Amino acid sequence: MRVEFLGGVRTVTGSATLLEKGPLRWLVDCGMFQGGRELEERNWNTGPYQPRKLPFILLTHAHIDHSGLIPKLVKEGFQGKVICTKATYDLCEVMLRDSAHVQEMEAEWSTRKNRRAGVDETSPLYSVEDAEKSLRYFQPVRYGEMVSLDGGIKVRFQDAGHILGSAIIELWTEEEGEEKKLVFSGDLGSPGAPLVRDPTFITEADVLWLESTYGNRFHRSREETERELLKIIQDALRDEAKVIIPAFAVERTQDVIYTLGELIRRNLIPRIPIYIDSPLAISATEIFKRNTDCFDQETKTLLSEGQNPLELPEILYTQSTEASRAINEDSRPGIIISASGMADAGRIKHHLKHHLWRETSHIVIIGYQAEGTVGRRIVDGAKTVRLFGEEIAVKAHIHTLGGFSAHADQKGLLDWLSHFGNPNLEVFVVHGEEKVSLELSQLVKDRFHLNAIVPQWRERRPLFRAQGTPEEAITFPEDRKVETEPAFSLEDLPALLRTLDRNYKKLRRKLRRAKEKGRLHLEARWGGRLEEINRRLEELDSELDKS
Ligand SMILES: [Zn+2]
Ligand SMILES: [Zn+2]
Repeated sequence: MRVEFLGGVRTVTGSATLLEKGPLRWLVDCGMFQGGRELEERNWNTGPYQPRKLPFILLTHAHIDHSGLIPKLVKEGFQGKVICTKATYDLCEVMLRDSAHVQEMEAEWSTRKNRRAGVDETSPLYSVEDAEKSLRYFQPVRYGEMVSLDGGIKVRFQDAGHILGSAIIELWTEEEGEEKKLVFSGDLGSPGAPLVRDPTFITEADVLWLESTYGNRFHRSREETERELLKIIQDALRDEAKVIIPAFAVERTQDVIYTLGELIRRNLIPRIPIYIDSPLAISATEIFKRNTDCFDQETKTLLSEGQNPLELPEILYTQSTEASRAINEDSRPGIIISASGMADAGRIKHHLKHHLWRETSHIVIIGYQAEGTVGRRIVDGAKTVRLFGEEIAVKAHIHTLGGFSAHADQKGLLDWLSHFGNPNLEVFVVHGEEKVSLELSQLVKDRFHLNAIVPQWRERRPLFRAQGTPEEAITFPEDRKVETEPAFSLEDLPALLRTLDRNYKKLRRKLRRAKEKGRLHLEARWGGRLEEINRRLEELDSELDKS
């Protein structure tokens, strides 16, 4: 068997793994790349996915970074099955249509611009029609059901606790008379998150694909996060201001509704308007209400007591654009939850434009912010951000609440991994920014003594030959574009030196403080890293001497 990593490696988006067993080829996930033009270019070249030759795609969950290229493949001749859970199918129905709508709007916008420049029209990546057509190929299965596929392959979907319907995929195949097992973690949820169940523990595998979104971070606890949110709302109430929450339409929005409901049920906040300003989030919430069998015990209990945690009298759903605009005329304090979660599209951009510059407003970031997005720039402390061609000052209070994350943190990931019993397990660390995946893979090697690999984009390699796999076995197709480093301009040098200075001083301060508190001996590994930085500086210095 062979594998080719088509996406979701050394980046968080575009998840797609191509597997080959003799003449049989199939995909696990088929996600869209997001975050910057260079990465998004990849969405246009789906040749390597070989859409016509795929008998099936196994889909872990509905998020666009896992499902978003399915309509594109259908447009290019895919006629196989898309196998996923029922809730994933329900969510894909609205999410793929929404994604196609975004593609159409963007193409229209760029066509208008092109016409003025006398250039050709732009066609969308795929149309709403392609998205609707792709739904015909979906074949929902139940959690825990054993599904037999071509080539003697068997698969089973287990709850990943990430979003409604999300799954870990177990796959069995026979190789030279021996049964082998592959496990794809998909995106793993944070244990204890509301609504969904905790991730299922898997104990056996020969090869594991492990996500690493938050492989270098630790989330605050749920209780602490709730307290933080409560404090933010109280501050906003005191200043008669608004709280703006950019949220992914699926799961994050419902999670926030659930938490606000908890605060209201406990009389901790008064009845203030809560706007859900995202048509997609509204449809997604309806799907949640239809798939209550996926809920955890706590939520099921609430339901059985006649309380629907997703229905609050304070919630104002805004479908139309007019209703969305009217929100900004409501001067009362309140909460606005809107998509997209990374603030690079959707109605949230309007709300940010209205509130980022106000000193009393509160912006609460609760989800993952990919590199290159507006949300990431806000989190990274940008003084201004560009919205609708206008430079907007960032004066509002910015809060990041990691405890709402739909992804397990480093502890959660390692705990989940610790349940596997095979000492020869081979681990591909995927779905993370490069440095995060590398950090987690090092931990997997150090703590579990497993063979952990961070694959490269378009890397091809044989499976089940972990021990002593010759380097030559890893190949790259010829059409793989070699990624070049961005050119460094001399104009950037003064700013870079200033940042270097600042970071160095900050680091010294922190290390000195840690030493004073007697914490430094715990972190001996920092010493190695500092030595490495020093070595790099010396290298650079001697290179400069030579030139
Ligand atoms: Zn996801
Ligand atoms: Zn993902």
